[in-house]
Amino acid sequence: MMATTHALLGLLLALPLLAVAPDLAPAAFLAGLVGGVVPDLDLYTGHRKTLHYPVYGSIATVPAVVIAALVPTTVTVAIAVGLAAAALHAVADAAGSGLELRPWQGTSERAVYSHYHGRWVRPRRWVRYDGAPEDLFVAGVVAVPLVMLGDGPVTALAVGLVAVSAVYVLLRKPLATVAERLVPLLPAAVRPYVPARYL
Ligand SMILES: [Zn+2]
Repeated sequence: MMATTHALLGLLLALPLLAVAPDLAPAAFLAGLVGGVVPDLDLYTGHRKTLHYPVYGSIATVPAVVIAALVPTTVTVAIAVGLAAAALHAVADAAGSGLELRPWQGTSERAVYSHYHGRWVRPRRWVRYDGAPEDLFVAGVVAVPLVMLGDGPVTALAVGLVAVSAVYVLLRKPLATVAERLVPLLPAAVRPYVPARYL
């Protein structure tokens, strides 16, 4: 899934805070956004493995949510929402495509790594690839409650994320070709940091 879809899903997890503890909602939204996006920082080293924890992340979320419910502070709520968003990101990746430059070709059987099982989880391809039309659909559906129920900044952010998603969906396939052509032009010192699927 697109980073923007993951970001919207993270924000959605924070939405209930507006109803139950509005004073803690800003921290929750920030944590949801960060938790939703941060796993993909492993793009340059062990993508969908180093920072993706579908099982352990989900397990860790349970006590974090219990603690946040019992002792609701900015810190406990931010940790709970952030962990939940990161875990949801890793689980959601399994619903998408495998790790490859052109995921719509469906040649990779690696969706996300489960450290618990010690193996790669296969892609379900319910969202065929990141930037697919159905990816935009998911982003749009998740954005609806955020736009309708969120406060000013959250509404604006949700609209902005959907807009960026729409542009990305239009450019997704040409971008793979552009990346492939640019990589050989990169200086040798940079190449170790280029994800394997571009080489
Ligand atoms: Zn991911």
